[in-house]
Amino acid sequence: MKKGIIVGGGIGGLTTAIALRKAGMDVIVCEQAPALREAGAGIWMAPNALQVLFELGIADNIIAAGKKLEKISVVDLKYRPISVIDGAWVRKNFYFDTVAIHRGVLQHLLAAQLPADTILLNKRFAGFRQDDRSVVALFEDGTSLEADFLIGADGIHSVVRRQMQIEQQLRYSGQTCWRFIADFSLPESEKDLMYEIWSDQKGLRVGYSHINDRQVYVYITDEALPGGKDQTETLRDDLLERCEAFPLLVRQMINAAHPESIIRSDLYDFPPIPRWTEGRVALLGDAAHATTPNLGQGACQAMEDALILSRKLHFVADIPTALTEYQKTRWKKAAYITNTSYQFARVTNTTGLLRRIITGMLRATPARVNEQQFEKIYTLSN
Ligand SMILES: Cc1cc2nc3c(=O)[nH]c(=O)nc-3n(C[C@H](O)[C@H](O)[C@H](O)COP(=O)(O)OP(=O)(O)OC[C@H]3O[C@@H](n4cnc5c(N)ncnc54)[C@H](O)[C@@H]3O)c2cc1C
Repeated sequence: MKKGIIVGGGIGGLTTAIALRKAGMDVIVCEQAPALREAGAGIWMAPNALQVLFELGIADNIIAAGKKLEKISVVDLKYRPISVIDGAWVRKNFYFDTVAIHRGVLQHLLAAQLPADTILLNKRFAGFRQDDRSVVALFEDGTSLEADFLIGADGIHSVVRRQMQIEQQLRYSGQTCWRFIADFSLPESEKDLMYEIWSDQKGLRVGYSHINDRQVYVYITDEALPGGKDQTETLRDDLLERCEAFPLLVRQMINAAHPESIIRSDLYDFPPIPRWTEGRVALLGDAAHATTPNLGQGACQAMEDALILSRKLHFVADIPTALTEYQKTRWKKAAYITNTSYQFARVTNTTGLLRRIITGMLRATPARVNEQQFEKIYTLSN
């Protein structure tokens, strides 16, 4: 039985552990935090992620705990469509809707698939060494673990990647994002819909949908220098002021938020890196291909990584070869997502005439061209 160490217990690391165990491997997840806690409010799981979860036998649990969305629309401040993807077409071709879910709930459902002793908490990875026969992971607590392979699922600032000496520089998108969950009920006609509303200002957008019958997940992006900080006491008023041009509904949702639960994140990615593997070690999820969230695909891509990695390690006996094949199968799509998402941020960082030209072009894009783009995103790597 092949034995693996997964560094990082985020969505990527946990899904990988589930997929590898299902493929008959023995794995251990090493997470630096004292508890599994997925910060970040809500998350949208697109049909490609649901296909992975279906293969792993857990799609139904996740769909039941979230909210199926029938249509996803990018609109202007008056809800005039800029770009809409037809839910019926998505369901017909990719079997699933997009599902919105609380991140903590998703994390819990993933962790519940794993025996408790496969997740080691307070286990901060410090480095690895490897030879022809095995890889040894070294931890900051002075302990070590030996296995046949090691997967770095340790996020955008990956320590595993750093040790692999892969040249890479984080790239700031020019935008900051505020995210929150609030107890709020959307009007009946909007309960199954997800909207992203574009204002006329650079970077300023609001997206929202229900994540279950009682709560909504809302994000607000705006052009800003990185490193900004908020005052909890004034944050809600600041966001209300920022969003004063948006429909009343948006301001009602901001009013329903608890300021201390609003998360602020500067949006970074890094341009595709040429190498995800080194012998018995491979990167996965944000560690391999962090992307801005404009396509809502970061975690979905990590899930695709997990499935492909498990298949390669299952079918290919030699571990370095299996890991290289995993990269070969996944690299092109992950790079497409990162680059397309980054371009999307640049589009929303425009204003004035240029913005009007771009939105005009998006509105004039034939449905078939839009569908071709979604085909690329929703078709699993193979
Ligand atoms: C605003 C925003 C909205 C988003 N919305 C979506 C969306 O709707 N849909 C979607 O698919 N994606 C979305 N994403 C992207 C998604 O959140 C990430 O792509 C995904 O969470 C990456 O998962 P990961 O497991 O690769 O990394 P992470 O979630 O970063 O997990 C890495 C884990 O490794 C641990 N770790 C780090 N270093 C060490 C170490 N040295 N030792 C041990 N453990 C370590 C960390 O504690 C962490 O638990 C969004 C991102 C942002 C910023």
